Amino acid sequence: MEYKRCTRCVMDNESDPTITFDAEGHCNYCNDVLARRSSEYFPNEEGKKKLDAMMEMLKKEGQGKEYDCIVGVSGGLDSSYIIYLGHKYGLRMLAVHIDDGTDTEISKKNIKNLCEKANVKLINVCPDKEQYADLTLAFFKASVPNLAMPQDNLLIQALHDIVKQYGIKYSLSGANFAHESILERSTGINAMDKTHILAIHKRFGTKPVNKLRIGNLWSAYIGWRYFSKVTNLYPLNYIDYNKERVLAELKEFSDYNYYGGKHYECVLTRFLQCYYLPEKYHSDKRKSHLSSLVVDGQMTREDAIKELEKPAYVSEELKESDMNFLADWLGISREEFDKIVALPAKQHSDYPMSLLENFEGLARKFRKYLGQ
Ligand SMILES: [Zn+2]
Repeated sequence: MEYKRCTRCVMDNESDPTITFDAEGHCNYCNDVLARRSSEYFPNEEGKKKLDAMMEMLKKEGQGKEYDCIVGVSGGLDSSYIIYLGHKYGLRMLAVHIDDGTDTEISKKNIKNLCEKANVKLINVCPDKEQYADLTLAFFKASVPNLAMPQDNLLIQALHDIVKQYGIKYSLSGANFAHESILERSTGINAMDKTHILAIHKRFGTKPVNKLRIGNLWSAYIGWRYFSKVTNLYPLNYIDYNKERVLAELKEFSDYNYYGGKHYECVLTRFLQCYYLPEKYHSDKRKSHLSSLVVDGQMTREDAIKELEKPAYVSEELKESDMNFLADWLGISREEFDKIVALPAKQHSDYPMSLLENFEGLARKFRKYLGQ
């Protein structure tokens, strides 16, 4: 197959062989983004009005309650900026972070400084170390793309448990159009697929998982939406979400330090994006992140290409230290770690999955029958 890269963004047929190009060489990803942009992203006066109204509503709805909303905080730029933005509006937020033992030191410091400065209560959810590391090791041994699936699952489940406990009705998400309009190819698995997690655990796990709160698709979709009645809100789509500017604001506010890339705040996800996915699946997630910034006008295509020419890991030393850290954290020797990482690549679909995986599709069909 001849190598082809979009002439507007930096998506290519190496990361996604199903990509298509129009006569001008523009890809389906950025064409789609430009078509959706005006109805999803409001970096203007209209956005300001929408954001003001959202914040007013949250404060009104929160009257008589301890908190106006919940915020899942990873330590990354987007969720951190949500805390800062909510603080500026005087929201009473409850922050939840999954402290799974793989946070970088910078991240720990960033989260602590930010929540202290914004006077936000932070709940650190700490999964049982032995069981959680063993479950994550099972994913390494299964040789599937999303090694962070147990981490994602436990965070989502923790958010569910906490909104229920505190009677919170709104969740502020850092997901945004400006930096994420182009999403990488899916790994083909929903993090809440408990059937899949348990199948991989059964085959490769060596310890029980009874101390872990593993969520399922049912609680994720039906529970969140219809029983806990929690609404997700996306405030970053109502401001001019310029990366350089928001980084400078956070630096000024709580001495926030950037990690040099998206999802680099945690050693596990950094290893996943900088080494595991590119080496094993030819998937370089920087392409979609950089393409989003290019399409948003925050970066030139030439600079994005230059960025991609650099190795994903900023240095060999960091790569080595991450791999040593992970081997140690997983409780195996570095030699064994290297052997497991070099296993032939598998897909999630090589293992059992929940029949509810297609729930979103099913739900759409049901809504059609119900005439909604
Ligand atoms: Zn494109």
